[in-house]
Amino acid sequence: MSSAVVKIEDLHKIYSSGEVPVHAVRGVSLEIHRGEFLALMGASGSGKSTLMNTLGCLDRPTSGRYLLDGVDVAALGRDALADLRNQKLGFVFQGFNLLSRTTALENVELPMLYARRPLAPRELHARALHCLDIVGLAARHDHFPNQLSGGQQQRVAIARALVNEPQILLADEPTGNLDSKTSVEVMGVFQKLNDAGITIVMVTHELDIAHYCKRNLILRDGRIVRDEMVANRLVAAEELAKLQHAEAAAKLTGAPA
Ligand code: ADP
Ligand code: MG
Repeated sequence: MSSAVVKIEDLHKIYSSGEVPVHAVRGVSLEIHRGEFLALMGASGSGKSTLMNTLGCLDRPTSGRYLLDGVDVAALGRDALADLRNQKLGFVFQGFNLLSRTTALENVELPMLYARRPLAPRELHARALHCLDIVGLAARHDHFPNQLSGGQQQRVAIARALVNEPQILLADEPTGNLDSKTSVEVMGVFQKLNDAGITIVMVTHELDIAHYCKRNLILRDGRIVRDEMVANRLVAAEELAKLQHAEAAAKLTGAPA
Protein backbone atom coordinates (compact mmCIF):
# COMPACT_ATOMS: atom_id res chain seq x y z
CA MET A 1 0.00 0.00 0.00
CA SER A 2 1.16 3.50 -0.77
CA SER A 3 1.76 5.80 2.16
CA ALA A 4 0.31 8.78 0.30
CA VAL A 5 -2.21 10.55 2.53
CA VAL A 6 -3.12 12.72 -0.42
CA LYS A 7 -3.16 11.54 -4.00
CA ILE A 8 -4.45 13.90 -6.65
CA GLU A 9 -4.62 12.97 -10.31
CA ASP A 10 -5.11 15.48 -13.11
CA LEU A 11 -7.32 17.76 -11.09
CA HIS A 12 -9.25 20.54 -12.81
CA LYS A 13 -11.51 23.15 -11.31
CA ILE A 14 -13.61 25.43 -13.47
CA TYR A 15 -15.82 28.05 -11.81
CA SER A 16 -18.75 28.64 -14.12
CA SER A 17 -20.87 30.84 -11.86
CA GLY A 18 -19.81 34.13 -13.49
CA GLU A 19 -20.20 35.36 -17.07
CA VAL A 20 -16.84 33.94 -18.06
CA PRO A 21 -15.81 30.52 -16.72
CA VAL A 22 -12.60 30.59 -14.70
CA HIS A 23 -10.24 27.65 -15.07
CA ALA A 24 -8.69 27.97 -11.60
CA VAL A 25 -6.84 24.62 -11.43
CA ARG A 26 -5.54 23.12 -14.68
CA GLY A 27 -4.41 19.55 -14.38
CA VAL A 28 -2.67 19.24 -11.02
CA SER A 29 -1.27 15.86 -9.99
CA LEU A 30 0.23 15.59 -6.55
CA GLU A 31 1.17 13.05 -3.90
CA ILE A 32 1.68 14.02 -0.28
CA HIS A 33 3.07 11.41 2.08
CA ARG A 34 2.76 10.94 5.81
CA GLY A 35 5.02 13.28 7.75
CA GLU A 36 5.46 15.83 4.98
CA PHE A 37 5.33 19.56 5.67
CA LEU A 38 4.42 21.34 2.52
CA ALA A 39 4.15 25.03 1.68
CA LEU A 40 1.90 25.97 -1.20
CA MET A 41 3.00 29.23 -2.80
CA GLY A 42 2.16 31.36 -5.78
CA ALA A 43 0.82 34.78 -6.76
CA SER A 44 -2.68 35.87 -5.86
CA GLY A 45 -5.18 34.13 -8.15
CA SER A 46 -2.85 31.22 -8.95
CA GLY A 47 -5.27 28.68 -7.47
CA LYS A 48 -3.87 28.07 -3.97
CA SER A 49 -7.15 28.43 -2.09
CA THR A 50 -9.02 26.42 -4.71
CA LEU A 51 -6.52 23.58 -4.34
CA MET A 52 -6.68 23.80 -0.53
CA ASN A 53 -10.48 23.75 -0.61
CA THR A 54 -10.32 20.60 -2.69
CA LEU A 55 -7.82 19.02 -0.30
CA GLY A 56 -10.12 19.97 2.55
CA CYS A 57 -13.16 18.41 0.82
CA LEU A 58 -14.86 21.81 0.99
CA ASP A 59 -15.25 21.93 -2.75
CA ARG A 60 -15.52 19.25 -5.43
CA PRO A 61 -13.23 19.29 -8.46
CA THR A 62 -14.68 19.64 -11.97
CA SER A 63 -12.65 16.63 -13.05
CA GLY A 64 -9.80 14.51 -11.78
CA ARG A 65 -9.41 12.22 -8.80
CA TYR A 66 -8.73 12.90 -5.15
CA LEU A 67 -7.86 10.07 -2.78
CA LEU A 68 -7.69 11.12 0.86
CA ASP A 69 -5.91 8.43 2.84
CA GLY A 70 -6.88 5.95 0.13
CA VAL A 71 -10.56 6.95 0.04
CA ASP A 72 -11.98 8.29 -3.23
CA VAL A 73 -13.68 11.45 -2.07
CA ALA A 74 -15.92 11.71 -5.14
CA ALA A 75 -17.69 8.49 -4.20
CA LEU A 76 -18.88 9.81 -0.83
CA GLY A 77 -22.21 11.41 -0.01
CA ARG A 78 -22.50 14.51 2.12
CA ASP A 79 -22.60 12.85 5.53
CA ALA A 80 -19.79 10.42 4.79
CA LEU A 81 -17.69 13.30 3.46
CA ALA A 82 -18.37 15.38 6.57
CA ASP A 83 -17.33 12.42 8.75
CA LEU A 84 -14.15 11.90 6.74
CA ARG A 85 -13.24 15.59 7.05
CA ASN A 86 -13.90 15.58 10.76
CA GLN A 87 -11.77 12.48 11.32
CA LYS A 88 -8.84 13.12 8.99
CA LEU A 89 -8.45 16.87 8.65
CA GLY A 90 -7.80 19.86 10.87
CA PHE A 91 -8.17 23.42 9.60
CA VAL A 92 -6.31 26.60 10.53
CA PHE A 93 -7.25 29.93 8.97
CA GLN A 94 -5.58 33.31 8.55
CA GLY A 95 -8.22 35.05 10.69
CA PHE A 96 -8.18 32.44 13.54
CA ASN A 97 -12.02 32.12 13.38
CA LEU A 98 -12.51 31.74 17.12
CA LEU A 99 -15.90 32.31 18.74
CA SER A 100 -15.52 35.56 20.66
CA ARG A 101 -17.87 34.93 23.61
CA THR A 102 -16.39 31.52 24.22
CA THR A 103 -13.30 30.60 26.25
CA ALA A 104 -10.18 29.12 24.71
CA LEU A 105 -11.12 25.73 26.15
CA GLU A 106 -14.66 25.83 24.74
CA ASN A 107 -13.35 26.91 21.34
CA VAL A 108 -11.08 23.88 21.31
CA GLU A 109 -13.91 21.56 22.38
CA LEU A 110 -16.12 22.68 19.51
CA PRO A 111 -15.05 20.22 16.75
CA MET A 112 -15.60 17.31 19.15
CA LEU A 113 -19.26 18.27 19.55
CA TYR A 114 -19.84 17.40 15.90
CA ALA A 115 -18.62 13.85 16.35
CA ARG A 116 -21.16 11.15 15.70
CA ARG A 117 -20.80 9.90 19.26
CA PRO A 118 -19.80 12.87 21.41
CA LEU A 119 -17.61 12.23 24.43
CA ALA A 120 -18.72 12.85 27.98
CA PRO A 121 -18.08 16.43 29.17
CA ARG A 122 -15.17 15.37 31.38
CA GLU A 123 -13.50 13.66 28.42
CA LEU A 124 -14.10 16.73 26.24
CA HIS A 125 -12.45 19.02 28.79
CA ALA A 126 -9.51 16.68 29.25
CA ARG A 127 -8.83 16.37 25.54
CA ALA A 128 -9.24 20.08 24.85
CA LEU A 129 -6.94 20.91 27.74
CA HIS A 130 -4.36 18.43 26.46
CA CYS A 131 -4.39 20.13 23.04
CA LEU A 132 -4.05 23.57 24.63
CA ASP A 133 -1.10 22.16 26.53
CA ILE A 134 0.53 21.01 23.28
CA VAL A 135 0.44 24.61 21.98
CA GLY A 136 1.61 25.98 25.35
CA LEU A 137 -1.65 27.62 26.41
CA ALA A 138 -3.13 25.33 29.08
CA ALA A 139 -2.76 28.12 31.65
CA ARG A 140 -4.96 30.40 29.51
CA HIS A 141 -7.78 27.92 29.02
CA ASP A 142 -10.41 30.18 30.60
CA HIS A 143 -9.43 33.31 28.65
CA PHE A 144 -11.64 34.75 25.95
CA PRO A 145 -10.16 35.48 22.52
CA ASN A 146 -10.01 39.25 23.17
CA GLN A 147 -7.85 38.54 26.23
CA LEU A 148 -5.27 36.79 24.05
CA SER A 149 -2.66 38.13 21.62
CA GLY A 150 -2.91 37.29 17.91
CA GLY A 151 -0.26 34.60 18.22
CA GLN A 152 -2.04 33.07 21.20
CA GLN A 153 -5.36 33.13 19.34
CA GLN A 154 -3.74 31.30 16.44
CA ARG A 155 -2.34 28.73 18.86
CA VAL A 156 -5.85 28.18 20.26
CA ALA A 157 -7.02 27.70 16.66
CA ILE A 158 -4.25 25.14 16.13
CA ALA A 159 -5.30 23.32 19.32
CA ARG A 160 -8.87 23.29 17.99
CA ALA A 161 -7.61 21.79 14.71
CA LEU A 162 -5.80 19.05 16.64
CA VAL A 163 -8.59 17.96 18.90
CA ASN A 164 -9.98 15.18 16.68
CA GLU A 165 -6.45 13.85 16.13
CA PRO A 166 -6.31 14.56 12.39
CA GLN A 167 -3.76 13.06 10.02
CA ILE A 168 -3.43 16.29 8.07
CA LEU A 169 -3.46 19.92 9.11
CA LEU A 170 -4.51 22.32 6.37
CA ALA A 171 -3.65 25.96 6.97
CA ASP A 172 -4.45 28.85 4.61
CA GLU A 173 -1.99 31.68 5.35
CA PRO A 174 -1.88 30.94 9.09
CA THR A 175 0.74 33.64 9.71
CA GLY A 176 -0.85 36.23 7.40
CA ASN A 177 -2.15 38.35 10.30
CA LEU A 178 0.90 38.00 12.57
CA ASP A 179 4.09 40.00 13.02
CA SER A 180 7.33 38.30 12.03
CA LYS A 181 8.40 37.10 15.49
CA THR A 182 4.94 35.74 16.28
CA SER A 183 4.94 34.06 12.87
CA VAL A 184 8.13 32.22 13.77
CA GLU A 185 6.56 31.14 17.07
CA VAL A 186 3.57 29.73 15.21
CA MET A 187 5.89 27.97 12.74
CA GLY A 188 7.61 26.50 15.80
CA VAL A 189 4.29 24.99 16.89
CA PHE A 190 3.78 23.54 13.40
CA GLN A 191 7.32 22.11 13.35
CA LYS A 192 6.75 20.45 16.73
CA LEU A 193 3.49 18.90 15.49
CA ASN A 194 5.13 17.78 12.26
CA ASP A 195 8.01 16.22 14.25
CA ALA A 196 5.31 14.29 16.13
CA GLY A 197 4.08 12.86 12.81
CA ILE A 198 1.28 15.15 11.62
CA THR A 199 1.27 15.96 7.92
CA ILE A 200 0.92 19.69 7.28
CA VAL A 201 -0.04 21.59 4.14
CA MET A 202 -0.02 25.36 4.37
CA VAL A 203 -0.50 28.24 1.99
CA THR A 204 1.85 31.15 2.43
CA HIS A 205 2.88 34.27 0.54
CA GLU A 206 6.12 34.58 2.46
CA LEU A 207 9.28 32.90 1.23
CA ASP A 208 10.94 33.03 4.66
CA ILE A 209 7.94 31.28 6.23
CA ALA A 210 8.06 28.60 3.51
CA HIS A 211 11.65 27.88 4.58
CA TYR A 212 10.35 26.40 7.85
CA CYS A 213 8.52 23.75 5.80
CA LYS A 214 10.12 20.67 4.22
CA ARG A 215 8.77 20.96 0.71
CA ASN A 216 7.81 23.99 -1.39
CA LEU A 217 5.36 23.88 -4.22
CA ILE A 218 4.70 26.85 -6.47
CA LEU A 219 1.50 27.34 -8.47
CA ARG A 220 1.12 29.59 -11.46
CA ASP A 221 -2.15 29.97 -13.38
CA GLY A 222 -3.54 26.79 -11.85
CA ARG A 223 -0.50 24.61 -12.60
CA ILE A 224 2.39 23.40 -10.47
CA VAL A 225 5.48 25.09 -11.86
CA ARG A 226 7.90 24.11 -9.11
CA ASP A 227 8.04 21.35 -6.53
CA GLU A 228 11.20 20.98 -4.46
CA MET A 229 12.52 19.94 -1.08
CA VAL A 230 13.76 22.80 1.12
CA ALA A 231 17.52 22.88 1.48
CA ASN A 232 18.81 24.45 4.73
CA ARG A 233 15.48 24.37 6.41
CA LEU A 234 14.96 26.95 9.17
CA VAL A 235 14.33 25.70 12.70
CA ALA A 236 11.95 27.99 14.57
CA ALA A 237 13.50 27.36 18.01
CA GLU A 238 16.92 28.44 16.68
CA GLU A 239 15.57 31.52 14.93
CA LEU A 240 13.67 32.57 18.07
CA ALA A 241 16.83 32.18 20.16
CA LYS A 242 18.67 34.43 17.69
CA LEU A 243 15.89 37.02 17.89
CA GLN A 244 16.05 36.95 21.70
CA HIS A 245 19.81 37.45 21.62
CA ALA A 246 19.41 40.41 19.30
CA GLU A 247 16.75 41.92 21.57
CA ALA A 248 18.89 41.46 24.67
CA ALA A 249 21.91 42.99 22.94
CA ALA A 250 19.81 45.93 21.80
CA LYS A 251 18.66 46.56 25.38
CA LEU A 252 22.26 46.56 26.63
CA THR A 253 23.58 48.89 23.96
CA GLY A 254 20.43 50.99 23.57
CA ALA A 255 20.40 50.27 19.83
CA PRO A 256 17.17 49.18 18.12
CA ALA A 257 16.83 45.40 17.63
P1 ADP B 1 -5.30 32.13 -4.73
O1 ADP B 1 -5.76 31.52 -3.46
O2 ADP B 1 -3.99 31.61 -5.22
O3 ADP B 1 -5.30 33.63 -4.68
P2 ADP B 1 -7.84 31.20 -5.81
O4 ADP B 1 -7.85 29.74 -5.77
O5 ADP B 1 -8.59 31.94 -4.75
O6 ADP B 1 -6.34 31.72 -5.90
O7 ADP B 1 -8.42 31.68 -7.21
C1 ADP B 1 -8.00 31.15 -8.46
C2 ADP B 1 -8.85 31.75 -9.56
O8 ADP B 1 -10.20 31.32 -9.43
C3 ADP B 1 -8.91 33.28 -9.53
O9 ADP B 1 -8.94 33.74 -10.85
C4 ADP B 1 -10.20 33.56 -8.81
O10 ADP B 1 -10.73 34.80 -9.20
C5 ADP B 1 -11.07 32.40 -9.26
N1 ADP B 1 -12.08 32.01 -8.26
C6 ADP B 1 -11.84 31.59 -6.99
N2 ADP B 1 -12.99 31.27 -6.36
C7 ADP B 1 -13.98 31.51 -7.24
C8 ADP B 1 -15.41 31.37 -7.20
N3 ADP B 1 -16.03 30.91 -6.10
N4 ADP B 1 -16.12 31.72 -8.30
C9 ADP B 1 -15.50 32.16 -9.41
N5 ADP B 1 -14.16 32.31 -9.52
C10 ADP B 1 -13.41 31.99 -8.46
MG1 MG C 1 -6.20 32.42 -1.55
